[in-house]
Amino acid sequence: MKYWNPYLETLPKETLRKIELSHFRNIFSHAKTHSVFYQQKLKSIEPNDIATLDDIKKIPMTDKEELRKYQEIDPFPYGGTLGIPIENVTTFRQTSGTTGKPVYVPESYESWQWRIEVWCHILYMAGFRPHHRVFLPFGYNVYVAFWEGHYASEKLGCEVVPGGALDTKGRIHKIIEIKANAMLNTPTYGLHIAEEAKKMGIDPASFNIERMLCAGEPMPTATRKRLEELYHCHVFDHIGGTEPCAWAGMCEAKEGLHIIEPFFLVEILDRETLQKEVKEGDIGVAVVTPLGRRSFPLIRFNTKDLVVKGKSSCSCGRTTQKIVEVVGRIDDLRKIRGVLFSPKTVEEVIRQQFQEVEEFEIVVERKGLMDLILLRAEVNPQLSLESIEQTKVRLGESLKIATNLSFIVIMEPPGSLPRYTLKAKRFKDLREETK
Ligand SMILES: [Zn+2]
Repeated sequence: MKYWNPYLETLPKETLRKIELSHFRNIFSHAKTHSVFYQQKLKSIEPNDIATLDDIKKIPMTDKEELRKYQEIDPFPYGGTLGIPIENVTTFRQTSGTTGKPVYVPESYESWQWRIEVWCHILYMAGFRPHHRVFLPFGYNVYVAFWEGHYASEKLGCEVVPGGALDTKGRIHKIIEIKANAMLNTPTYGLHIAEEAKKMGIDPASFNIERMLCAGEPMPTATRKRLEELYHCHVFDHIGGTEPCAWAGMCEAKEGLHIIEPFFLVEILDRETLQKEVKEGDIGVAVVTPLGRRSFPLIRFNTKDLVVKGKSSCSCGRTTQKIVEVVGRIDDLRKIRGVLFSPKTVEEVIRQQFQEVEEFEIVVERKGLMDLILLRAEVNPQLSLESIEQTKVRLGESLKIATNLSFIVIMEPPGSLPRYTLKAKRFKDLREETK
């Protein structure tokens, strides 16, 4: 079978939109009657005011700050964001953001199953099937993505091997011992496992992994291709977040991501005004409404993810709306010396042209009135001093071409930069601290 849900994945666009409008009105009514937050926020709008998808644009968006604020009231810890009685909550999860207080996310058994079903779409689209033995090289803790991946793999009929409570070497031995042939990973940790395996004299391609789905961080195409080369396997991306769930995934055509319709209503809005839907090929901010989750209703959640809008057709036959790529987080975009800069561009350059670079970090500082942008890079320890010097010069040149900014490149000793498993923090803007 080609699709996880052959009916939903091939519906005509108009039918999809009709279903989404009807689901939107349902979740809107539910939010207004069951969540204190939305009772107050949406006081002046009634479900009957939403006759078309255009009417949705009149409804105010929701952002993370508001969720945090409303979680400070009773009942602890979800406060006014709860959409069901607290006795019906069966699962606690929280966001893994690096700044500010986390958002606590309640799931009922029903809403958790809704999330798993969404993930089944994502994994099936990435070619996960019952013959796969899926290794997850993490302890999942209170973070949501790998739990969803775990249970959705089970629902698909795969065999799941949880790889928590082991170090990287232990995980490599486990992959070999049990002959895992599929993995869920973060892009960073995928690269790290490969690097460690090579140090142990093992070629990561010899693991015989067929499929890998990445989660947790934005993944430039160059990083995805690098993982494919290292493991000789198919690597797939998806996008999502703890609050709205994963809402788009990559099919085997590997040309962009399909929005998981009609589970989500996704608007891709002009980033200046946040009003108008962008045209195909343009960059916009993704505003997401999960349409079937009652425990933690979200109406027009501003994900702050910048994406390029794509087509609503694909060689795989699915009719769902596509996005071409994830550009990055709006919070990570910076003006540096008047130039708009996205850290993802640096990763793209490094993964594409500098395979000798094993880890890196971007630091922006302020000296007097001047913004300085530093690239700290760690290269393969087997490189000669001369090659290290050449890499340093080439890095400076390539980054200048890609970003229009001059970087100060600093070569760091092997093992001195931090290594990440769940969420990489390779970009540090210290301008406020170094003024
Ligand atoms: Zn497709």
